[in-house]
Amino acid sequence: MTQYDIPLAAPDISDEDIAAVVAVLKTSRLSLGAKLEEFEQKFAAYTGAKHAIAVSSGTAALHLCVRALDIKEGDEVITSPFSFIASANCILFEKATPVFVDILPDTLCIDPVLIEAAITEKTKAIVAVDILGNLCDWDALRAIADKHNLALIEDSCEALGSSLNGKKAGTFGDCGTFAFYPNKQMTTGEGGVVVTDRDDIADAARSMRNQGRDDSGRFLHHERLGYNYRISDINCALGISQLSRIEEFIQKRDAVSEWYKEALAPLADHITPALSQDDVRTSWFVYVAHLNSKYTPQDRDALLERLKAKGIGCNNYFPAIHLQPLYTREFGFKKGDFPITEGVSDRTVALPFYNNISQKEVATVAEVLNDEFHNLP
Ligand SMILES: *Cc1c(COP(=O)(O)O)cnc(C)c1O
Repeated sequence: MTQYDIPLAAPDISDEDIAAVVAVLKTSRLSLGAKLEEFEQKFAAYTGAKHAIAVSSGTAALHLCVRALDIKEGDEVITSPFSFIASANCILFEKATPVFVDILPDTLCIDPVLIEAAITEKTKAIVAVDILGNLCDWDALRAIADKHNLALIEDSCEALGSSLNGKKAGTFGDCGTFAFYPNKQMTTGEGGVVVTDRDDIADAARSMRNQGRDDSGRFLHHERLGYNYRISDINCALGISQLSRIEEFIQKRDAVSEWYKEALAPLADHITPALSQDDVRTSWFVYVAHLNSKYTPQDRDALLERLKAKGIGCNNYFPAIHLQPLYTREFGFKKGDFPITEGVSDRTVALPFYNNISQKEVATVAEVLNDEFHNLP
């Protein structure tokens, strides 16, 4: 059996990135220094947000949004079950109650039409996720939020650079979040950002990421309950360098998505390429193709195992959050609760996708898929 070694994801680190990191190490400011400030300024400028607060992860960014909006025990927060776990867990961090609403089958984002029925007196906010670089229907979400006086948190961790009519992901909600784990469009190793136009959210997030300190500069004075969610200047230097190439990254990923569309076209009886939105400039995150409905979830899992055995990175992005053990155990969710999400989750096949994958490697992935479809029932 031929072995390939094509990973699922890979960061794109240049000599300039490495030099930028090394340069910080030769200074005495490894945290809360000039690189943090520069990264935040450049990030705010790129997204078009008034404020950017850089933190230790995307999960920390989400938690700070929840805290800054004073979401607490007894509050309900509406969110999507088709996402990475952190977009729902941030609600649990403050003991608020997650209320899932199913997704649209094309964009895989939360379905605004289903939201109204889920709103109660206790509903305080919506955490909507720009999943896989797709944008939510933010006009509809804003109208619902305004009508019911709800806060809108935009989890844009998968959509850095996606835009609608020039307006960038992260700026549609009251606050938005980004993440820089090495599989994201750009990386800082680990890291995240909160973006917002609201001064109150920015001030609260800035204080809480740094042990609840205020802006007086007193190191041992703590205004409120805070955390150590700081990001080091080492990570920020990498972030500045990566951000300077983000347009190139987005274009490369867009080209790869086109290669997949072409390479998967002859396999249309088996698998459907990832969808993107016509009116949106998509910044691709993970390339998620969908097995056709004749295949069972067991077929999908078998296919993933066979691809991995041949050295082709792949995964089931994303299993439904409401069916994760934590959620079935704590909240009693069960199969059938969110049928669109479950139908999608059962058949996703995330394929190798990163800036510097070659067209030949994409063709290899398609060839191996073609072989394996003949092995499935
Ligand atoms: C990656 C991601 C996060 C969390 O980011 P981390 O930096 O890994 O904490 C949150 N939400 C979504 C949708 C993500 O994809």
